[in-house]
Amino acid sequence: MRITTNIKDLNFKCSDVETYEQGIIIAKKLIIVCMFGNNKNAVGLAHNQIRGNKNVYIAKSKNTFRPFINASIVDASEEIFEHKEGCMSFPNKYNSVTRHKWVKVNHLIKDGYVTETFTGFEACIHQHEIDHLKGIDIHHKIKEGAIK
Ligand SMILES: [Zn+2]
Repeated sequence: MRITTNIKDLNFKCSDVETYEQGIIIAKKLIIVCMFGNNKNAVGLAHNQIRGNKNVYIAKSKNTFRPFINASIVDASEEIFEHKEGCMSFPNKYNSVTRHKWVKVNHLIKDGYVTETFTGFEACIHQHEIDHLKGIDIHHKIKEGAIK
């Protein structure tokens, strides 16, 4: 399983999984992909980056990947800042993107839906991956003028 670098594979909205278990199976695949080669540098990966179509991504926190299933941003800081970030689907390119300072992410865990707050760099990972699952990548942000 490889990370796609084809923009056409990324330009669509992923759909929610029906069960937590289904999400975990996908998250495990994403973690395995990040164990090899240059993918070891990844801090997050979304399902459509490996040609999937489900609303599942992984995000690194304290050196460990965590699964985020059926996630959505339910609140975000008004304050935004410029963050220089790369993308595993567009290797070796770094762009300044505007991001919220903090976000509240609602997502499915074993016991149901929970909301967690992320700040700083971690907040950027979540915004980047949730954008991916909505079909938004760095190229859209360039069109919006969000990248300088
Ligand atoms: Zn990306």
